[in-house]
Amino acid sequence: MNDVHLIVPFPYAKSVHDRRHGPRGYAEPARYKPWLRDEYQFRCVYCLCRERWCPDGEDSFSVEHFRPQSVSPNESCDYDNLMYTCCRCNAAKRDLTGLLNPAEIPLADHVEILEDGTIRGLTEDGWHLIRVCQLDRPNLTEFRRGIFDILRGLELLGEIARGNLLRRYFGFPSNLPHLAALRPPGGNSRPDGIRNSFYERRSRGDLLDVY
Ligand SMILES: [Zn+2]
Repeated sequence: MNDVHLIVPFPYAKSVHDRRHGPRGYAEPARYKPWLRDEYQFRCVYCLCRERWCPDGEDSFSVEHFRPQSVSPNESCDYDNLMYTCCRCNAAKRDLTGLLNPAEIPLADHVEILEDGTIRGLTEDGWHLIRVCQLDRPNLTEFRRGIFDILRGLELLGEIARGNLLRRYFGFPSNLPHLAALRPPGGNSRPDGIRNSFYERRSRGDLLDVY
């Protein structure tokens, strides 16, 4: 796939996020990270920045507790309470509660990113999310504008150069997690998700180069 038009760089979900994976029983939240990377397509739930856009890739991302450990310690290793976020958003959210939950509400109904890089809330809850995670800070707005500029610029390139750059900036990470090899101590309540994990899809040859 080499069509720039098909790439939506900042797609807030139009539907509720149904969990695809269900690992159980790890004692450390960080052990869930490979599952969350796949679950959330290697990008931050809140700002939608991708691993590919960070020099250190997944090291710039962390496991976020939607209901914070300080509020709900018994959920600190409950997969369904965990999200995948960049370290910046995770730090900004801190121990706050009451944010929009992508598992219950389509974020696209509340937040929108425009092609000039700006972000706006469509509801008061959307603006609250923007304020908490500082999603309208100038550095991030300028970064998003640059991503849109890159996409526009790619259309002017020849096919080979365009394909190479598309894969570099809009491809999947090279280190897709091999979830089938993991053995969560408490099992996996959604084993069917592994078949559609990105690693398995790449192995079968039915994963697009870019997204
Ligand atoms: Zn983020």
